[in-house]
Amino acid sequence: SKWVYRFGGGEAEGRAADVERLGGKGANLAEMASLGLPVPPGLTIVADACVFYFNNNRTIPDDLKTQVLEGITVIEGQTGRVFGGKAKPLLLSVRSGARASMPGMMDTVLNLGLNDETVQALGHDAGDARFAWDSYRRFIQMYADVVMGLDHEIFEEILEDEKARLGHDYDTDLSAVEWQHIVSLYKRMIEDELDTSFPQDPHVQLWGAIRAVFSSWMNPRAVTYRMLHRIPEEWGTAVNVQTMVFGNLGSSSATGVAFTRNPSTGERELYGEFLVNAQGEDVVAGIRTPQSITEEGRIASGSEKPSMEKLMPEAFAEFRAICDRLEIHYRDMQDLEFTIERGKLWMLQTRSGKRTTRAAMKIAVDMVEEGVITEEEAVCRIEPPSLDQLLHPTIDPRVERHVVGSGLPASPGAATGEIVFTAEEAVEAEHEGRKVILVRIETSPEDIHGMHAAEGILTTRGGMTSHAAVVARGMGIPCVVGAGSMRVDMRNELLIGGGGVTLKRGDTVTIDGSSGQVLKGAVPMIQPALSGDFGKLMAWADKTRRMTVRTNADTPQDARAARSFGAEGIGLCRTEHMFFEGDRIHVMREMILAEDEKGRRAALGKLLPMQRSDFIELFSIMHGLPVTIRLLDPPLHEFLPKTEAEIAEVAKAMAMPPAFLARRIDAIHEFNPMLGHRGCRLAISYPEIAEMQARAIFEAAVEAGKLTGEPVELEIMVPLVSLRKELDYVKGVIDRVAEDVAKETGVPIAYLAGTMIELPRAAIRAHVIAETAEFFSFGTNDLTQTTFGMSRDDAAAFIPTYQRKGIIEHDPFISLDFDGVGELIQMAAERGRRTRNDLKLGICGEHGGDPASIRFCENADLDYVSCSPFRVPIARLAAAQAAI
Ligand code: PEP
Ligand code: MG
Repeated sequence: SKWVYRFGGGEAEGRAADVERLGGKGANLAEMASLGLPVPPGLTIVADACVFYFNNNRTIPDDLKTQVLEGITVIEGQTGRVFGGKAKPLLLSVRSGARASMPGMMDTVLNLGLNDETVQALGHDAGDARFAWDSYRRFIQMYADVVMGLDHEIFEEILEDEKARLGHDYDTDLSAVEWQHIVSLYKRMIEDELDTSFPQDPHVQLWGAIRAVFSSWMNPRAVTYRMLHRIPEEWGTAVNVQTMVFGNLGSSSATGVAFTRNPSTGERELYGEFLVNAQGEDVVAGIRTPQSITEEGRIASGSEKPSMEKLMPEAFAEFRAICDRLEIHYRDMQDLEFTIERGKLWMLQTRSGKRTTRAAMKIAVDMVEEGVITEEEAVCRIEPPSLDQLLHPTIDPRVERHVVGSGLPASPGAATGEIVFTAEEAVEAEHEGRKVILVRIETSPEDIHGMHAAEGILTTRGGMTSHAAVVARGMGIPCVVGAGSMRVDMRNELLIGGGGVTLKRGDTVTIDGSSGQVLKGAVPMIQPALSGDFGKLMAWADKTRRMTVRTNADTPQDARAARSFGAEGIGLCRTEHMFFEGDRIHVMREMILAEDEKGRRAALGKLLPMQRSDFIELFSIMHGLPVTIRLLDPPLHEFLPKTEAEIAEVAKAMAMPPAFLARRIDAIHEFNPMLGHRGCRLAISYPEIAEMQARAIFEAAVEAGKLTGEPVELEIMVPLVSLRKELDYVKGVIDRVAEDVAKETGVPIAYLAGTMIELPRAAIRAHVIAETAEFFSFGTNDLTQTTFGMSRDDAAAFIPTYQRKGIIEHDPFISLDFDGVGELIQMAAERGRRTRNDLKLGICGEHGGDPASIRFCENADLDYVSCSPFRVPIARLAAAQAAI
């Protein structure tokens, strides 16, 4: 089989599209060579050879050996040099190059082919013995490290000792003879350490290096990197063997890196750095400060050192032309590496450049305007989750992070503040103008006011759908949950982090809700700015997508934020959340704890006007867009007072003895509230609750219609249905109230009555439920919980273990489980539509804001997705990409 692809001399056997075989680096070297760009000749060993190597007990196929030797003969012809030659020796670099970029994870060997003879020839040929001996010692050091497994530190020590002995400060102070001596010390060290001498035969060196690069595919660094970036182990790495060119051959030589556009702002300007008389490693190592490539860049950076444009005008002009050409050719911003050897420019690498979201946005929009890419391509160039970077303050990526713990990234953005441990303190601090992070073991409805007042929320327990996570996302407040490596000591008001870091109340912390990290102290932030490019790109996305994007909003604040992010309605208003605020929780408790219908009706009477005014506001903000109101679905325990002090307080407010109240609490105690008396079950036990809510909804719709002049597109949703008769019963209550309100006000209100599909039985019986339901909204939080039988509030304790052990790939509460939960959704959608072909279908679980899940929804032909306000732009973009 063909193991080797040659490139150089204006032609190449491979192409950019051969990235699977040739790896990223090899494919692009081939492409550049075939474009006639100056690429040092070389060859790429395909990634399959690496796979063969590992599948065959680390052996190299025989025909690979022949093909490499043939390739080297061709390179010798192209360069006029001979591998191991005693006159003009050919030196090679051997580098890894996988299909996906794995920066710095695998091994490289440079200056290969040097030995005690060729070093002399190289010095003679270059007219620079010092350079030759310096290259030789670099080679020995690298080879001994990568191939022979000796720590490069021991060579550094030798070098430092010698410099001290000779009285030199810098490597550049060493003469040829001094380097030569160091080479002999290096070789002796290898013999002492390994009982073998440094290989002199260039072919032995070459195969040693190739094997080492193959083997580095399985080094622990690379294995970890692959796991983090989901790169399959089966890919293997290609190996690039290429003629060395030298940027360290005096003042007319240089090496550098560049981007065809500014990778942090996206500005259309060549942006890069170079070093005179240096090898590539020196730029990366940061020993010397690199100089700017362009004059413009030099002036902007305020540097005195001359630019490449000034210093090497010819090479610069050629380089700039190549940059333009490559950018047009690849139709994307490129990240390039180059070397200038005695005035001659050589291209060593090109690839799509990494960039910030802001830059990505600007580049995509500019390239459409320049006619380089289409609007649809621009839409596909932005990773939806990266939009977070634009909507929230983020931690400046250039600063060092002092991480003291980490949890789940529950709500994006970063926030800094003083630690407080109670909601009351948070509220107090807000009044005093202090910024705080509310730290709790977990949050409950009573904490809502404190959550509002805080800059960020940190809990040590709970998962992505825990109370803290859901509420914080809704509010757009950064939040980290389930930071299990940290401990809250409420009594002593301490937050104890990993590594024994203890933080007190009042200490400053920063949480990064995008990564889940908790950092000590304050950290510099980058503020969000929704530029014009953002608007343009999102408009293209909106033109492209089929599904509409709604929001999960319970408060006017959420609704306004969501509208500003482009939400096209409310897909889920969790009415129970409307009772978390202020004094309402007391009335809510009164209602829940009431002993009989009379007591309940009294409390409901107080709740009615509150609900009505909330709905009026929500309807007005949405101004004729669809609004789905869900009837009460409280896991009742969330509302109940827990501690003795809380019980005493509530008892006082309800004018009953605490002991009596405690008995009521006991009476409604549930062993498993998530599977208990919640959802439609509550409305069936206490229809007066649904009655009150329906009345508030219809009366509000009448009012809002008058206020805005637009009829509300109203959908009333019944939660946690598993039987059609449950829905029939609750819908009966709703319909009766609708008639009553129409009679009383003289204004009939149009509405749809539908249900959530959040239990497996409902999905299975969807065709029957659809006889009553006019729409379905998939509640994938509960559907995931009940399909897996995994508590959404407790799963965070074991899901990371499952991931580590390879039992599941991702957290099914974050990204939909296509095979199980997804199949139920598909089935329910099909069965439901069979009964009612205009059945409206949407999703309102947390998955509605997850790009992979959104793609699934597109394929399942849902009508809309609904997600928390700050995810609306992400969902708009992801829905567009799914439709392309
Ligand atoms: C769901 O279960 O997916 C849902 C949206 O409802 P909640 O999260 O309020 O239970
Ligand atoms: Mg639910």
